Amino acid sequence: MDRPVVDHRSPEFAQLTEDVRVGLRRVFGTQDGAPMLYPASGTGATEAALVNVLAPGDRVLAFNYGLFSGGLGNIARKFGYDVDEVGLRWGQAVSPDLVEEKLRADTPSNPYRAVLICHNETSTGVTVDVAAIREAMDAAGHDALLVVDTVSSLASIDFRMDEWRVDLVICGSQKGLMLPPGLGILGVSRRALAVGSQSGGSPRHFWDWEPIMRENRIGLFPYTPATLMLFGLRESLRMLVDEEGLENVYARHRRLANAVRAAVRGWGLSTVCEDPTFASNTITAVRTPSGVDSNELLRYARETYQLSLGGGIGQLNGQAFRIGHLGALNELEVLATIGGTELAFADLGIGVELGSGLVAAQRAFSKARVPALAAV
Ligand code: PLP
Repeated sequence: MDRPVVDHRSPEFAQLTEDVRVGLRRVFGTQDGAPMLYPASGTGATEAALVNVLAPGDRVLAFNYGLFSGGLGNIARKFGYDVDEVGLRWGQAVSPDLVEEKLRADTPSNPYRAVLICHNETSTGVTVDVAAIREAMDAAGHDALLVVDTVSSLASIDFRMDEWRVDLVICGSQKGLMLPPGLGILGVSRRALAVGSQSGGSPRHFWDWEPIMRENRIGLFPYTPATLMLFGLRESLRMLVDEEGLENVYARHRRLANAVRAAVRGWGLSTVCEDPTFASNTITAVRTPSGVDSNELLRYARETYQLSLGGGIGQLNGQAFRIGHLGALNELEVLATIGGTELAFADLGIGVELGSGLVAAQRAFSKARVPALAAV
């Protein structure tokens, strides 16, 4: 990415556009879905997804189980869509049975046009089973579009756009794709494209798929693209798809997440995620012991050890901290994070034994399947 800016109307750039679109299809898990790239972020991609397929007054089904799933409903409401939002506890995942129940009870005269799901709720560290949600929609015989926010899961946690018949995949450049912020990324199914061109959607210009599709076919964009970001994206897609391989990338995230969760158990603390089946492989939100302000822990860890933990956000402000474990990350970096967190705990007098999480994480990583102490 650190290179002179090229002419975005040159043949070199047209090839870059094509390479990036091919690589994105691989991480979306689609043969014929259309990638859309905006100089934006995940929020922009969300807006683009909604305004192309929904018209004011359209009904959508949403679930609030954290800041970002709740955000989907908030964005939709601002465009005048009629949002039926089901409130869940922050820490819960969306249950497929609930989706099926809501869809079966839908009004046939004015049905939901879309179901909005956040695959990985970054505020709570919960991953929703999108395949099961798709099965629930099929079981209810409902044909709403399935819209999935994958901002903190794509290219880190298994995702299959075609197999799960996801219509809109929302993402950004700055998480699993290992880039700086700056790109809003969408995967659009053939069906969503057709809905977009037939139903009219909402007033839009910058987000409109039609000119993007037309220009992308010849390697161009209808606006000035984020040129250097696209060079970075081509490289990160090569690293993920061709060098490490997506299955290995997912396995690495599983391995790192397992060790973080082992450390949290070793500390005797609990995760915000209520059911370990839905624990996220990209982020773990940890409840701080009562009486401990997580913002103070964060500030101390940053200032003293240059350790950047995530804060508790939304209703978890002050009550939880988050350990991110996605992207370009390995075992030793995870151990350093856990060790640093323990130092901060100890310095602040939080009653967590030094080494309790570190040893648990080392055991989770160790290739020797015998418990470390048994050999002594
Ligand atoms: N959705 C999820 C799950 C996120 O984690 C985020 C940001 O962290 C967003 C949406 C918003 O994306 P952005 O900050 O790229 O606009």
